[in-house]
Amino acid sequence: MANANDMLAFIAASPSPFHCVAEAARRLVAAGFTQVDEAEALPRLNPGDGFFIARGGTLIAWRGGAVCPSVAGFRLLGAHTDSPNLRIKPNPERRDEGYVRWAVEPYGGLLVATWSDRDLGLSGRVALRGAGGVETRLLRVDRPIARIPNIAIHLNRKVNDEGLKLNKQTELPPVVALGTEDAEGEELFRALVSQELAVARDDVLAWDLMLHDVSPPTIGGLQGEFVFTPRLDNQAMSYCAVEAILALGEDVPEATSVIMLFDHEECGSRSERGAESALGGALLRRIIASHASSRGGALSQATARSLMVSADMAHAVHPALSGRHDPDHKPRMNAGPVIKHNVNTRYATDSVVAARFKLACADVGAPVQEFVNRSDLTCGSTIGAISAAKLACPTVDVGCAMLSMHSIREQAGVADVSWMQQVMTRLLRDG
Ligand SMILES: [Zn+2]
Repeated sequence: MANANDMLAFIAASPSPFHCVAEAARRLVAAGFTQVDEAEALPRLNPGDGFFIARGGTLIAWRGGAVCPSVAGFRLLGAHTDSPNLRIKPNPERRDEGYVRWAVEPYGGLLVATWSDRDLGLSGRVALRGAGGVETRLLRVDRPIARIPNIAIHLNRKVNDEGLKLNKQTELPPVVALGTEDAEGEELFRALVSQELAVARDDVLAWDLMLHDVSPPTIGGLQGEFVFTPRLDNQAMSYCAVEAILALGEDVPEATSVIMLFDHEECGSRSERGAESALGGALLRRIIASHASSRGGALSQATARSLMVSADMAHAVHPALSGRHDPDHKPRMNAGPVIKHNVNTRYATDSVVAARFKLACADVGAPVQEFVNRSDLTCGSTIGAISAAKLACPTVDVGCAMLSMHSIREQAGVADVSWMQQVMTRLLRDG
């Protein structure tokens, strides 16, 4: 329960990927990690030293092992900080029928209908005119300032038979105010952003801003067996990775520990800071060179001795729709971490890494489950196969079972969070 409550605090602090990185950074710094500027030379890495870099919604942290990575390899934990949501367009303000609305663009594969009739706040990053050029600031408005209203059933009689279908261009812009058609000189969006950040309106140059549900995460279920919260996919696994590296405490394993929390997974990982970028591999090369007992060596020399755990949420069997699962691979909540398999490498898992993960689960007393898609349904993907290819690193794809994936509010099991974190720590220590 302690882990689950702490995870809910982590998620509550993280309405956007930028906030997720800030919260991970806050926890790492509190435990003695030092943030470094990736544009500068990396500091010498002594065994037990912890460092991290942050780039937008991506954070990579590492903690020196006792032996150079080209000899002992890395133990890597990968996850992603971003979740499907609605992002504010560059010229958002529009006026329709006496309402002010903000134009939005769907980010990732969201369950669109779940965003209706919710109390929505605004969060993300704003780029400002600063003294020395462009400055960025985090913005978070937790007041319920926006809402995407359903139309009454009296005006949409077939909705319960045909499902709620919202046009992404015309029906998703949330209502934020009442206003006149004649909006001369009024720009409510820019006014809000400049007021919240206490800067001049003209200094607000650009933004990566998005909507979030303002209802707080909570423990739920008759016996407190569930978590009900937004962004479980995949802030739950980002949380487990952060806490796993911190749980090493004073221990210094032989292998250097690395956690990679990537942005942009939900739209394909292809960006300057996504899992498909050169960022991870370039940084690992620099970490090898910076190790106090560095013997140099190529990245592939280190990754041949490494293991990566790519952690992303998994599909729990649905009580009413169990036919969507393969009958012999139906993950359940609070039944332990799930190993994800796909022979066509949508997931990176193979028998060797699956076996290593199973041994780690057995060591910490965690049950373990296996997932493979029905053969007649298309499989999803994660950062696992992408980073495995980029880094040439053996990788196991795992996750915790959840329902409502990509809904504005999701559901998972309390016990699984704690097991996953313990297994991750075990793999960092002697995986
Ligand atoms: Zn995910």
